Amino acid sequence: MTVRLPASGPDLEFQAHVDNGQLWLQTCQDCDKAIFMPRILCPHCGSLKLAWHPASGLGTVYSRTVLYGRPKPGESRPQRHALVLVDLDEGPRMMSRLPDTDPDDITIGMRVKARIEGDAGAHAVVFDPCEETRS
Ligand SMILES: [Zn+2]
Repeated sequence: MTVRLPASGPDLEFQAHVDNGQLWLQTCQDCDKAIFMPRILCPHCGSLKLAWHPASGLGTVYSRTVLYGRPKPGESRPQRHALVLVDLDEGPRMMSRLPDTDPDDITIGMRVKARIEGDAGAHAVVFDPCEETRS
């Protein structure tokens, strides 16, 4: 059996913006709250009136988990990757990575800025440390 993604929907619209190099979020036109993951109705008030807007890309690290993998051939130290939860300045919390930052340097409360990485068809939102304070 082949599982096909729907030809339209909020997930595909989110990914289309990411594929264009931008982080966009839905905002509820009734309660003004920003939403992530993409949905067809507002999880706060149930409204169906959701609109897409570009996000600032700024956020704050809420938590960090370090995953250990097998060492690369010829190395003794295990590979490490950090998964983070980022509280976006618009409100929603997003799971992501800081691929260019040593996991030991990622701290809770650290300010981060989103960027899009990956090859065509597999773009993803990741974060880098930044100095910008919350506005
Ligand atoms: Zn709402």
